[in-house]
Amino acid sequence: HSSYGAQSYQGTIKVSVRPRPLQTTAGNLTGNWNIDRVDNTISNHETGDFQYDNVFEPSANNSEVYADVVQPVVTKCLEGYNGTVFAYGMTGSGKTHSMQGSVDENGLIQLCAAELFRKLKSDFDAYKVGCSYLEIYNEKLIDLLNFDGSPVDELRIRDDPTFGVRVVGLSEHWVASEHELVEVVQKGDSARKTSCTDFNDRSSRSHAVLLMRVEMKQDSSTRHSTLCLCDLAGSEKASSQTERRKEGAYINKSLLALSTVIQKLSQGSFNHIPYRDSKLTRLLQPSLSGESIVSILCTIHLSSSTITETINTLRFAARAK
Ligand code: ADP
Ligand code: MG
Repeated sequence: HSSYGAQSYQGTIKVSVRPRPLQTTAGNLTGNWNIDRVDNTISNHETGDFQYDNVFEPSANNSEVYADVVQPVVTKCLEGYNGTVFAYGMTGSGKTHSMQGSVDENGLIQLCAAELFRKLKSDFDAYKVGCSYLEIYNEKLIDLLNFDGSPVDELRIRDDPTFGVRVVGLSEHWVASEHELVEVVQKGDSARKTSCTDFNDRSSRSHAVLLMRVEMKQDSSTRHSTLCLCDLAGSEKASSQTERRKEGAYINKSLLALSTVIQKLSQGSFNHIPYRDSKLTRLLQPSLSGESIVSILCTIHLSSSTITETINTLRFAARAK
């Protein structure tokens, strides 16, 4: 019933929408948009209702978002399934704020690390967590944790009989606590910041992918799973011809491929899922296929100047459902 190479998808895709707070007069926090946290809908006069697994209020904090978007993924990982969380949205909509937090609050990465180690300690006899952090820029894979080795700025992806896909030469760091995990990520982020002249520009065009390989032992059985948190490149269309020629095409390639793959998976389509169309989808193939859980956090900015991009994001989110 299934052709060679086809994978039947039996996983789950959760789609959530998070508007960032508007800096406007209090009382009108969402402009012309209506948000219903109970029905999980967002609407305005022109678009009608969009419904997702979660639609947050702009006032939601990262802990509230964590509980609905990431916690179910961590729970599945501890049962031995692969899980991936994506932050998707235009530049400035709150992807990095969600993933990394701010001086005032922890991000989803810290909250995830805290819960992961808390549960590993309480529920298992032994465990190991290996952490890799990489950037995909112009369809090139860059190791953000390669601190002392000779610089490898273009990693290659190979098929691996055991893991399905392997990135040759990608460093992996064993982390024994929440604190160590967060520290490694912070080192990777500063490497990312210093390696380029215009960090903001670059971060809006590249994908940051945090991979956590978890091994859990209980009695005589061992479970493995990979938990992946991605801060994706900005989903906005490249603004100029030159940009499009230079880099936009590549970014769109990974984001477009991701969008296609997710749409096909959500439709229950098992054949010809084009994982090989981009580095991002190829890298994440083991986490996107099979019994895995995918949670997409779509961030939006409900200002009138970003209406087109907001609607594009809501449509992407609707297709992913
Ligand atoms: P992105 O990573 O999608 O480009 P950022 O996370 O950098 O966007 O957010 C852009 C700006 O908006 C930052 O200054 C950030 O601190 C702020 N911001 C985004 N989301 C929120 C939020 N939920 N609460 C408070 N500030 C936010
Ligand atoms: Mg960002």
